[in-house]
Amino acid sequence: MTLKLMSRRELLRTLSAAGLGSAFATRAVADAAGAAPAAGGKIRELTPMSPTLRALYPARLVNGKVIQPERPLPIFAETDVLVVGGGPAGFAAAVAAARAGAKTTLMERYGYFGGLWSGGIVLVVISTHAKENGEKVKVMRGIGDELCERLTKIEGAIINQAPGKHNPTTDPEATKFMMDEMIAEAGVNVVLHSWATDVVMEGNAVRGVVFESKSGRQALLAKVVVDATGDGDIFAAGGAAFEQRLHAIGLVHRMGNVDRAELDKLKTAGFKSIGSLEPLASVRWVNLRGPSTDGLDVKELSRLEMEHRRSIWKRIQTLRNTPGGEKLFLLQTAPQLGVRTTRLLEGVAKLTAADAKAGKKCADVIGVGGAQGANHVGWPIPYGALVPQKLDGVIAAGRCIACDTKWVEDMRLIAACLITGHAAGAAAAVAVASNCQPRAVDVAKVQDVLRKQGAYLG
Ligand SMILES: Cc1cc2nc3c(=O)[nH]c(=O)nc-3n(C[C@H](O)[C@H](O)[C@H](O)COP(=O)(O)OP(=O)(O)OC[C@H]3O[C@@H](n4cnc5c(N)ncnc54)[C@H](O)[C@@H]3O)c2cc1C
Repeated sequence: MTLKLMSRRELLRTLSAAGLGSAFATRAVADAAGAAPAAGGKIRELTPMSPTLRALYPARLVNGKVIQPERPLPIFAETDVLVVGGGPAGFAAAVAAARAGAKTTLMERYGYFGGLWSGGIVLVVISTHAKENGEKVKVMRGIGDELCERLTKIEGAIINQAPGKHNPTTDPEATKFMMDEMIAEAGVNVVLHSWATDVVMEGNAVRGVVFESKSGRQALLAKVVVDATGDGDIFAAGGAAFEQRLHAIGLVHRMGNVDRAELDKLKTAGFKSIGSLEPLASVRWVNLRGPSTDGLDVKELSRLEMEHRRSIWKRIQTLRNTPGGEKLFLLQTAPQLGVRTTRLLEGVAKLTAADAKAGKKCADVIGVGGAQGANHVGWPIPYGALVPQKLDGVIAAGRCIACDTKWVEDMRLIAACLITGHAAGAAAAVAVASNCQPRAVDVAKVQDVLRKQGAYLG
């Protein structure tokens, strides 16, 4: 067949003008996935296909302003619990909500789960333990710990996950694999490559999100949304109060052939550390702090991505030109830029450094955070720190929950994000089952679900 040389929009306009609407709209795809159709090769027709709404409602430049017309959006799906963001918090939230019986959907802008943990190549799960009555106690239990335990069954997937140890380090691909397994086993519906860009409001409640993907702009409706975007994208779009902070933004990289490098020689040459241990002896990951700036500013993100990559490349070349480092190579720069903190929710309650350091108990505890070096008491986390002050329909999880500046460094660690994610998922499922808003949830019921799912509440 011959494809007419007319843009899709032109074609649709012509068909609409002729009153033919979508009936004759077609698209051609190559037969084999990934194969480009060779000249004269087989082309498969998919017919009919409704025109994308994007083509019918284009933004227009009017008097120097870009105007996006009002338009209906297709509803992609309806779910009980929608978790937006598949980092440590979102992963744990989705598994918890699904295991608690809620129809659960997990949306992620990239093609894999784990967020900064796997995609940011931040591999050590800090604060899994605390010190209580002189004893080292594991506080990261439940879903986060289950993932780590399951990784111990795979050669080369995790280190330091054993009795007496704390702060395990995981292999990023093994982490993604195991997250996929647990998400699939729990029956979570997955929407990857989808970026939530706005919320759907009903009165004061968030009732879903608008998201963009290669399938166009669509809506996904939910009874409760868990904001696990790390940046509070959902509660901010819904109008919840938040504080915005600047923080160091880095880019992690990994080096290969470390087991073939002569580390003593490199040390003598002035390279005190060449990275942190990974489960595979040949690989190390290298953290980078970077400048303190705005993680919500796309210009800054673009600038830093390129600057960091350039400086990492140069560092590796220097290492390769140093005696002892000739065999090292740059294995990977992280697919995700290392944004540490942006928005922090103004919650019904707030984690404070003073309360956390004192290990202050709270009646609405939904988890206990650990100590970075397993050397001080755990800090009970109140459910209220996950719930917006006024906005309904949303529960926050992970590095954007309500917290004072002095405790951000502890609250945003992976173990704590797994813990608050687990709690948010359980609370969302309870809110759905109770037909109430997250703020009105009976916390005793949430605590009951969490205990049954193996979480530690102190
Ligand atoms: C450089 C660096 C080093 C660090 N070092 C350590 C360390 O050694 N140990 C440690 O424990 N912690 C460390 N951290 C902190 C830790 O990695 C993060 O705080 C933690 O991963 C946060 O988890 P989260 O699930 O809240 O968010 P994230 O890990 O950021 O995950 C959020 C997820 O949501 C997705 N998302 C975001 N917005 C949208 C949207 N609008 N629509 C759809 N999806 C969206 C993202 O793609 C991502 O997958 C480090 C962080 C950085 C940046």
